[in-house]
Amino acid sequence: MNPESVPPAPERLESPERLESPEEHDTAPNAGTAPMDAAPPRRRRGRGILIALGVVLGVAVLAALAWLVVTVVQLQDVIRQQTERIEQQEEEISDLNDLLDDRDVYAAAMDEYRHTVLSVEGLPMGAIVPADDAQQLRDQAWKNRRTPGALARTAASVDELTAAIVDLRAKADAERAANASGTLMEGVLDEVGRGFVRVSFDIADSGCGADALGCVSSDDPYVVHFDRTGLFHPAMDDWSRRFIALHEFAHVLQFTNAGATATAEKSFGGDWEFMADCYALRELDAWSLERRVWVSSYEYWDSELGYGQVCDAAQRDVIGTWLGELGVRPDLPET
Ligand SMILES: [Zn+2]
Repeated sequence: MNPESVPPAPERLESPERLESPEEHDTAPNAGTAPMDAAPPRRRRGRGILIALGVVLGVAVLAALAWLVVTVVQLQDVIRQQTERIEQQEEEISDLNDLLDDRDVYAAAMDEYRHTVLSVEGLPMGAIVPADDAQQLRDQAWKNRRTPGALARTAASVDELTAAIVDLRAKADAERAANASGTLMEGVLDEVGRGFVRVSFDIADSGCGADALGCVSSDDPYVVHFDRTGLFHPAMDDWSRRFIALHEFAHVLQFTNAGATATAEKSFGGDWEFMADCYALRELDAWSLERRVWVSSYEYWDSELGYGQVCDAAQRDVIGTWLGELGVRPDLPET
């Protein structure tokens, strides 16, 4: 074999494999690739620091956000509580103003009631002004004085009492101003009853006894029912008619003054008719129930009025005491 035919060995030295020697890396044009083998460890340390800083900053930011959220929630709660407190105070002030207004309304109503009652002071029919009603309203007002609206409602009830008295008084004034029946009995009752007692000639429909000349019912103790025919019988004179009218008025007083009557009636054995006769005799200063009425110079009628018993002086004193305890007494409740 010809040696020269053997391929020269140096040609293999130019193979790219040789350019990979360490000596040639320092001078080779592409030496910039060498630091790439050393750089990765430096970049991993910096990233770790950055990550740590990031985590710290993140935690700090999250903590700040959490603190902010908590603070905002707390502030909202404080604001809400203050708002509720202010609203409650405003409501309390409003209620207090309402109470003061109600108190003024109630005081004005009670004041008007007092003046109205005083206008009928001394009226012998005590039931015209039911003092218990006013006292109950006064107690009710005191009990509910701190309840909004309660005093205003009580004032309205007081106004109703006042209006009832005013209405009765107006009707009484009209009744007293005229004698519609033109009878002596109505004239007597207008005087002693100050117009608060009316007359009605309907005794047949009133439920009174068949032989009664007059009567009063508890259903309406301000009406006296009369028997016109009986009262104008020839046996009756004006004295007799006056006696009957006074006897019936005694029943009005008995019905409208229950407390005082309950005491006085004991002196008459609880007999209201006996007591009424005594009242009429006392008013007429008479001591007999027998009556003789002359119709001519030689004719007369004899009659006996009332219920057969003539009261004595002690019983007349009882009537006097009874009369002193009757009627509207301005024992009014304070506001
Ligand atoms: Zn009677």
